[in-house]
Amino acid sequence: MKILVVGGAGYIGSHMVKMLLDEGHKVVTFDNLSSGFRDAVLGGDFVEGDLANTAMLDDVFTKYKPEAVMHFASYIQVGESVQHPAKYYFNNFTNTLNLLNTMVKHQVNSFIFSSTAAVFGEPEYVPIDEAHPKAPLNPYGRSKLMVEQILADYEHAYGLKSVCLRYFNAAGADPGALLGERHEPETHLIPLVLQAISGRRSHISVFGRDYDTPDGTCIRDYIHIVDLCSAHLLALTQLVKDGVSQRFNLGNGAGFSVQEVISVAEQVTGKKVNVIDAPRRAGDPARLVADATLAKNTLGWSPVYTDLATIIAHAWAWETK
Ligand code: UDP
Repeated sequence: MKILVVGGAGYIGSHMVKMLLDEGHKVVTFDNLSSGFRDAVLGGDFVEGDLANTAMLDDVFTKYKPEAVMHFASYIQVGESVQHPAKYYFNNFTNTLNLLNTMVKHQVNSFIFSSTAAVFGEPEYVPIDEAHPKAPLNPYGRSKLMVEQILADYEHAYGLKSVCLRYFNAAGADPGALLGERHEPETHLIPLVLQAISGRRSHISVFGRDYDTPDGTCIRDYIHIVDLCSAHLLALTQLVKDGVSQRFNLGNGAGFSVQEVISVAEQVTGKKVNVIDAPRRAGDPARLVADATLAKNTLGWSPVYTDLATIIAHAWAWETK
């Protein structure tokens, strides 16, 4: 297939582009390089552009004639979304609308959307399945849920079919260390711990040890980037075949605490990290774990790199490259 990957120069998008190319698909990456890197796009065609530029977007569809679109381009910092909601609604919602409208115009009807566990808000139960109430706590989560909601309207009115994939904590790196996590600024736990171990940072802060969890630190569901991408590929294949829109939660189904991540990182690297206890970070639920049964049963998806040590080892190989 020919697939337009929007945001293909970012962390998840670049791993996706690599997998699509490895599987023999044709890829066009569209990215404004606001947080992505040109050299992370390992092949296919590349267009530097912004979704706000609808004329340019239109030209891309006319020139490359994609059969499907995967959309990874969004801002992802929860705290920033509270400070600057306009930025988040503009980029994550309005710009996505531009993309969807261009798809409708060019009659491209298959859309894979990067959604997030943040659409659920404070969990009412864990593990979180697709039926869990959607009550996002911040503009970031709301901007993603709004897209999920309008996709139902676009399907009804325009026949645009979609799969929304709600990521829990994407982590790890390409097993060959060709790609990895390069956020600027970095806010995610695993790369921060590894940067503290490698000496790029002085320490890792633990945001709260008084949560209602066995060791008092927050529990998250870390899913390997390659497993995340393989779910996208299966979702696209099935969407094109069956034309059935769906929403899936994607995680390992296993939770690991902040302290466990630090301990496993020390084991994997054989080095100690300087840990500083810090206050809770606003808006952090104690426990976020996915129930990914639906994705497994419906897509035949089976994550390969479920072991935290493997996820961290791949991230470490990238960090030390
Ligand atoms: N965390 C931490 N110190 C850091 C960064 C993150 O203790 O420097 C904690 C954070 O409070 C959360 C977990 O690690 O409980 C995962 O945070 P991250 O930002 O990686 O992902 P999120 O779950 O917020 O999407």
